[in-house]
Formats: sequence, C-alpha cells, structure tokens
Amino acid sequence: MSFGPHITRRDFVQGALIGVGGAVLGCKTPRPIRPNTLGPDWYGYGGVGDYRLSHGNTPDAVATAHRLRDGGFPAGFEVVESIEDYDLVIVGAGIAGLGAALEYSRRRKAGHTCLMLDNHPIFGSEAKENEFDVGGVRLIGPQGSNGFFIPAAVQDPAGAAGDARYYAELGVPREFRFRDWPATNKPLRFSPDNYEYLVRGLERHTSVGHFFRADSSAEGIWAIDIWERRLANTPLTTEVREALLRWHESGSTRKFATDEQAVRALDSMSYQQFLEHELRMRPEGARYANLFLASACGLGSDAISAYVTYQLPMPALTDPLPPELRRVSFPGGNSGFVRHFLKRLIPDAIAGTGSFEDTITGHIRLDALDRAGEPLRVRLRSTAVSVAHASPGTVNVVYTRDGRLYGIRAKAVIMATGGWMNLYVVRDLPPAYREAYRQFIHAPFLVANVALTNWRFLARLGITAAIWDRDEGSDFGYTCNIRNPMQVGGYQPPLNPDQPTILSFYTPFHHPGLPPREQTARGRMELLSTSYPEYERRIAAQMMKLFGASGFDAKRDVAGLILNRWGHAFSVPFPGFFGGAAGKEAAPREVIRRAHGRIAFAHSELNGWQHWGPAADEGRRAFTQLVDAI
Ligand SMILES: Cc1cc2nc3c(=O)[nH]c(=O)nc-3n(C[C@H](O)[C@H](O)[C@H](O)COP(=O)(O)OP(=O)(O)OC[C@H]3O[C@@H](n4cnc5c(N)ncnc54)[C@H](O)[C@@H]3O)c2cc1C
Repeated sequence: MSFGPHITRRDFVQGALIGVGGAVLGCKTPRPIRPNTLGPDWYGYGGVGDYRLSHGNTPDAVATAHRLRDGGFPAGFEVVESIEDYDLVIVGAGIAGLGAALEYSRRRKAGHTCLMLDNHPIFGSEAKENEFDVGGVRLIGPQGSNGFFIPAAVQDPAGAAGDARYYAELGVPREFRFRDWPATNKPLRFSPDNYEYLVRGLERHTSVGHFFRADSSAEGIWAIDIWERRLANTPLTTEVREALLRWHESGSTRKFATDEQAVRALDSMSYQQFLEHELRMRPEGARYANLFLASACGLGSDAISAYVTYQLPMPALTDPLPPELRRVSFPGGNSGFVRHFLKRLIPDAIAGTGSFEDTITGHIRLDALDRAGEPLRVRLRSTAVSVAHASPGTVNVVYTRDGRLYGIRAKAVIMATGGWMNLYVVRDLPPAYREAYRQFIHAPFLVANVALTNWRFLARLGITAAIWDRDEGSDFGYTCNIRNPMQVGGYQPPLNPDQPTILSFYTPFHHPGLPPREQTARGRMELLSTSYPEYERRIAAQMMKLFGASGFDAKRDVAGLILNRWGHAFSVPFPGFFGGAAGKEAAPREVIRRAHGRIAFAHSELNGWQHWGPAADEGRRAFTQLVDAI
C-alpha cells in the first residue's frame, strides 16, 4: 500500500536524484553504513519552497560524514584549491552556531571577519521546516525542533541567559494568533505543537485518542482523553490502571537545596530505576514515560538519567505544570527562532522587512548569505573535514564543497557541531577530549510529515492526536497529531476537517532493555537503510490500522509525505552524563566545554536535553572563550 497520486513523479524524482547509488535494504545486522550506500530511493519527496532540497540529513551530508569516519580523507589530503583568511570560523549553522555568531556580531571589532560553514543546503539544521502546497493551500511544519514555552520577559537581555535572553534580544513577539474552533462544531481540542499532548497535565488541552489492540486479529478500540477519565474507558486491567495512575498523579517526591545535590542524588540512576527501585512503582509508568522521553531525548526511561526528569516535567520528580501553561510553535517550529537569528545577523538573508510576518514567511535569499566584504558570511553545502592548530596563532580548516577541497586560515574556530563529527574533524583533539566525547551517545530520530487533503477521519473519531502501542502489531511509530496552526500575516492555514493539514509522526528508535548504545546503533541502521517507498508503505499501513474504520483512504486523503531523517538527533542524557554520584565537575561535557587552544566547542548536546535557548548559550560561551584570540 502507498499514498495516492498527489505526489508528482517530478517531485519524487527530483528528491531521489540527490541520492547516491547502491542499496543496503534487507541488511539485518547492525554495521556501519558505508558511504555511497544510500539508495536513489532513500531521500524522497521534499515538498515545495525554500526547504524542499534540505529535509533532514541530506544524502550528501551523510555520505561525506561517513567518508570522514571511514578514513576517506587521510592525512596529507590537505592539498587545497584555495586558501582564505578569516578571524573566526564557526562550523555548524544550527542554533548553537547562530548563538556564537550573534555574540560575535555584538562584540566584534571593526574589520573582523567570520565565516560560518554548514554541510546542509539551508541553515538551521534540526530547526528547519517543510512546506507543502495542497491544492493551493500553503502548509508549513517543523522538520524536527518544535515548540517552546514563552519565557519570562527580561528588561536586560545582556544580563540574562537561555530562552529569555534571545527571546528579548531578537524581539520575538509574546502574543500569537491561532484558529478558533467553532463552538457549533463537535468539540475538539488541539496542541499548538507536536509535544504538548504528551506532557503530563498539558495533555488536557488536546483531544488525545489511545488505540488499543489487545490481539492482532481484533480491529482495535479507541479510548479518548484517558487521563481525564482516570483510565476508566481503557481496556487495561485494574492493576495496570492503578499503577499508571499512581505514577501519573505523583508530584515531586524529592526536593534538593542545590542543583549540585540533585545531580549527585539522581544522575547515578535511570528514571526507570528511580521509579521502580526508589519509589517501588510497577513498570507501567516508566514504560508510558517513554512516549515523551524518547520523543524529546532520543531514548526511554531505561536509558535516561533521573536527573533529566527532574528538569523536564515528569511525574514523581516534578509537580504537575499549571494547567493554564501552553506551548507555542511557529509554523516551521523552532525554524522560527533560526529565522530571527538570521534576520538579525544578515538582514538580506530573508526577503522583506524585519516584521514578524516577513521573518517567519519571507523567502530565503541564498545569494545574500556569502557576500564578499561582509563581516559575517554563511557558506552552505560545505563540510569541514579537517580542523587543526597550525603555526602559532593559526588554525587551519579544510572543507569540501561539490567534491573539491578548500582551505581557510583562521585565528580561532568554534565547532558548533556534535561530538560524532568533532572526533573525526578536529585532528589535534587531545586524548582527554576524545575520551570524553566517546562517552556521548547520540540517538537517531525520524519526523514524518504527512500532508492531508482533509482530516475528516480524525474528526469522526473525536481526536486530534493519536497514541498507540508499538508492541501491538503496529507498522510504524508511536504517536501522531495535527496542530492548531499559528496564523502569521498572509499565512493563514485552515483548521477545518474538510481542508488540508499536516499530520506529524515524531518517531524515536528505542529498544528498551538493550544497552543504550545498541539501541541507538539499531535505530540508526533502520533509519539509514529503509527506503522512502518502504517508509511510505509502513506509514500508510499504520494509518489504515488506526483510521481505516473511521474512513481514512490513503489514496484520497494523502497529498504528500516528507521524511526528515536525523542520524544523530539527540544527545542521550544517560545516567552519569552530568557527573553522576561524583558531581558536575566529573561530567564528560565539562571537559568538552573547555577550549582547546584556539578551538572551542559548542553544541546543544552539551546541555544534556537539547533545547533552543541553551543551544545558543553554548555558542555564546564558546565565542567568549575565544574572543581574545581573534
Ligand atoms: C525531533 C527534534 C525535536 C526537537 N524539539 C525541540 C523543541 O520542541 N524545543 C526545543 O527547544 N528544542 C527541540 N529540539 C532540540 C533543538 O532542535 C536542538 O537543541 C538545536 O536545534 C540544535 O542546535 P545545535 O546548533 O546544537 O545543533 P544542530 O542543529 O545539530 O546543528 C549543527 C549543524 O552542524 C552541521 N555540521 C556537523 N558537522 C559539520 C561539519 N563537519 N561541517 C559542516 N557542518 C557540520 C550539522 O549538520 C548541523 O547542520 C528538538 C530536536 C529534534 C531532533
């Protein structure tokens, strides 16, 4: 089974042509993916608009990274075609790199120059967007990074940190428009993002359906708003209901005077261990927690430090969030923040004025990114393959673009990329940094955005979000939902069951019980070795299982599918990530946060749970470490 005729052959072929020959389908044992092994049908359809050629990791970025890992750029290859000089090079144009660039733009001296390199065709990395045109209706959705809570207002942004600082510094509005749901319609509630319905306490804002399928021959039943009904409408046994309710209704059971105390007490065990050993809870709560944890951190409660769940809104370590709290999501998720950074740094990069509407919906002007003579230039489709200190006061950078190698002499370099790349790119990385980086675990993730011509089948069920149990014979995923889409100026997506919308599947790859590294290796293997048509088939089959009985018809109702594959989406905050019982100073991330000569490291992986404001803070910290070197 596959989706209907709406995806044009031309669109599909355009995406497919970006692929690089050979296929690994059917390969069962996890083993490293070799360069040139992604089939021509791997990448698939990319939608329309500025982001159509950059959804998730591109085949080119994957192939170059794997070539690096496999020693394909051996010592001595640095015979380059040209050499440029810059004061500062920032590798990585995600939010961490942009945080570094913003600090550079605030503090640079006259004449200073900075070049930013990124290996994707558009800036933003995990914070990018997909765009569809469904019968003339423009629809925008996140490729990954998704939503936020509006931070407290601050008077002095320069004295603040994290979300609050950049929110104020970039002038992001504090009020937004969403669609009203007419009182005359069947009552339905919507998440504004793709996470809110998974957060304890906030799920009440969404009409959430849980799909139960006790045996594979049965059709399955829907239980709607299960937490409000205290699970009374589910087919679960009394024991399981009681266990889940005990977990879900549990407020904060531990209080700590300082963060250091919390790290020492909680970072030595997983959330699952905390629930089952410390609180003597049955396993059902930890298992249900996986829905949110694996979607937000890459792996589930068996692999995540209990300390993280003290920071995130999770039962038993935090109190329920105030019911009036709401998440917010820009049309393209946190791509909206990236666009604010870019508009501030290179105003011509996005067409139009500095208004919120233009910043969010204006066209990207690639020709404005890399202009000679500008203090900040952004060069896309460029992978740094070697960074190393050279003569005193110099760092040499070699990058590859369109199959050619180029050189840069810089006074300082910020690696705003993850450890999975830095280990291979930074050639003179000291052993302590290598040892620290080798402790990091990176989890893959897949965001599948399905453009629908209508969502009548959801309205019939009385839901806008769905959750199902992967173990009950499902083909794909764990959750999906439609958002109440933000309205921005001329961008007015509908909220009507007979009109188009995007159904998003946020899909982790966790295998609870296996060692965390094995879970992520298996997940990456599946993510990289499954073709676009195979995912299309699995998603269509899953949608039929869930929604077939309420009238879903894949050929009629689906207008397009975009896969956003992130090979190293999340840094998994495993027990010990924050220093464990030994405390913060022993944490591997603290080693990486020290500058290595004229090279400093910035990536949101260092925060433990990845989030836009702390990502920018890592970039700002890295620039501050190097400011005297440029
Ligand atoms: C599915 C998903 C959902 C999320 N949801 C949220 C959310 O709701 N709210 C929130 O705040 N955060 C969310 N996040 C986290 C947030 O997206 C990240 O913390 C942040 O965007 C990461 O920014 P970064 O700059 O640290 O890294 P990245 O975005 O990874 O950027 C690094 C860039 O460097 C590039 N690069 C790597 N090596 C090289 C090289 N050698 N040469 C050139 N370029 C290179 C990478 O390809 C990438 O483009 C989510 C993340 C994911 C994956």
